[in-house]
Amino acid sequence: PARGEPLLQVTDLTKRFGGLTAVDKVSFDVRAGEIVGMIGPNGAGKSTTFNLISGALHPSQGAVTFAGHNLTKERSVNLVNLGVARTFQHVKLRPNMSLLENVMLGAYARTNTGFLAGAFRYDQADESKVRAEAFRQLQRIGLSGRAEDLVSSLPLGQQRAVEIARALASDPIILLLDEPAAGLRRLEKDQLSQLLKDVSAAGVTLLLVEHDMEFVMGLVDRIIMLDFGRQRAMGTPAEIRSNPVVREAYLGA
Ligand code: ADP
Ligand code: MG
Repeated sequence: PARGEPLLQVTDLTKRFGGLTAVDKVSFDVRAGEIVGMIGPNGAGKSTTFNLISGALHPSQGAVTFAGHNLTKERSVNLVNLGVARTFQHVKLRPNMSLLENVMLGAYARTNTGFLAGAFRYDQADESKVRAEAFRQLQRIGLSGRAEDLVSSLPLGQQRAVEIARALASDPIILLLDEPAAGLRRLEKDQLSQLLKDVSAAGVTLLLVEHDMEFVMGLVDRIIMLDFGRQRAMGTPAEIRSNPVVREAYLGA
């Protein structure tokens, strides 16, 4: 879809875990080129919503469509090929592999060859292409100088950047980020905010969950607020800041 047109549409999305309704009839859309933030207290259903969109969980009810595809029955592996990538609330990198190898895994996810498939039909041309793409993504986050270092040697802020690079290596249309700024220092947050603005300017649509209001407000075009699985508010940062429901339930004011 062209910039500004609906890209991701979430309709009446519902997820029950036994007696608990973690996500309750949530509906919103994300337009191509937008940066949309999702906020809400712990347990509000933000990560579950991401898991439903990215195919890690199947909804009890409702639907997710992306660029005209019904994602509700897709498996995550197909989503990567459709252009959906994500990062996790708790960094999921391979600590004992190098930065470059980790980012290469993201590129392989898109080409569908992968290390395992490679064992059966090894393709050298493919590997050098993937390696070059991974290196380019490390340059983008300013860590190409450490390409051969182990991920475990990096501070958390840089590990999060590597996770973003790995997601970008799959050449996504939309990138979902679950609490990308959690645990980062102020300077690291500023660097992350700039990286995400650059990624957005390069044409990737962004949907992120984030607790740090200052971080969210300075980055996104629109905010969706969840509480107890329900969508309580949606609007621009200015609208959200002055919304009484948000002030009461989330900002504690
Ligand atoms: P958030 O990311 O907004 O903090 P979550 O989506 O992680 O919230 O969780 C929403 C609610 O669903 C919480 O009450 C949580 O305990 C529950 N929950 C999340 N995942 C599961 C699961 N796999 N099984 C049972 N309950 C879950
Ligand atoms: Mg969460």
